[in-house]
Amino acid sequence: MSCGSDCNDPNCKSEPVHPSGKCAESKCAGCPSKGQCKSSEPTEQTLKIAQSLQKFSKVYLVLSGKGGVGKSTVATQLAFYLSDRCNKKVGLMDLDICGPSIPTMTSTVGSEVLTSDIGLIPVNVTPNLQTISVGFMLNKTDDAVIMRGPKKHGLIAQFLSEVDWDLNADEYENNILIIDTPPGTSDEHLSVTSLIKDCAALLAKKYDTHILTQAIIVSTPQEVAISDVRKEIDFCNKIDLPICGVIENMSGFVCPNCNNETQIFFPSKGGVKKLCDDFNIKFLGRIPLDPKLTRCGEEGIPWSSLDDDESIGMEMFVDIVAGVLHLEK
Ligand code: ADP
Repeated sequence: MSCGSDCNDPNCKSEPVHPSGKCAESKCAGCPSKGQCKSSEPTEQTLKIAQSLQKFSKVYLVLSGKGGVGKSTVATQLAFYLSDRCNKKVGLMDLDICGPSIPTMTSTVGSEVLTSDIGLIPVNVTPNLQTISVGFMLNKTDDAVIMRGPKKHGLIAQFLSEVDWDLNADEYENNILIIDTPPGTSDEHLSVTSLIKDCAALLAKKYDTHILTQAIIVSTPQEVAISDVRKEIDFCNKIDLPICGVIENMSGFVCPNCNNETQIFFPSKGGVKKLCDDFNIKFLGRIPLDPKLTRCGEEGIPWSSLDDDESIGMEMFVDIVAGVLHLEK
């Protein structure tokens, strides 16, 4: 029986023990000393993250197996739609540390992150949408971010604990945090999920406050992308991160001249719907390839500002939003 590979609490019956003597509670599953050793005490960092995240009722981590499938596009457009059209207060956190595209996609490149007594003041995108990204902290936009794992972990912990979101805690049901993550299953994913899980456990135990934390997975229809989504699903299962559902992006292209639909990324093995059926996961819906959506990413504007809700693509997107919010269609 082990309290987790890096648990090292002297009172814990498991071997080996953690040098800090304070391992995260979520790592103690199965330990005979769980809840009795000092590992079960929240760390100062967990308390700080809890203080910041308790303003949010929902946290969505947007994941993808591969890069370039539209993860940041989905994260941004979801943030725009929820804040502009669903009257939600949204925080959009860019954890794609080495390839931050949220500043471009929200038209906030070059914005400065100021500080307050609490910490970092996020950048205002619209009245209901704020964002934070490492992209705002670079001397030059084209600077490469070179960080090893521990430094990335520190930055993620700082973003989770020190961002001074302009939110009313009393309206926490209305407040949503969307986190854009790097592609794949890397250090960043482990860091962010373990930090949020410890904080959620603390909030539930001490204050009976519950944060719904779920993954939204984005893929294109072809097998080469979907095979990586299977790994993503396995990762979520292994780290105990519930999956809200999977979105099939770049799903067909309707030619505006002849109205014929072409499957550019052909779903040779049934696409995302089949994958969701196989894994018993919610299929959130399809987003077609749409030149207007590419333009939105380039100009940092909401899709809904170029297309009305009756356009085919937007209609599909509105269904996806309803699925994410668990609304009846
Ligand atoms: P990722 O975050 O997965 O790396 P991005 O969101 O950066 O992918 O998308 C990659 C490129 O594809 C961007 O230029 C984006 O504007 C474009 N794109 C994404 N989804 C669509 C779509 N459905 N239709 C048209 N262009 C899209």
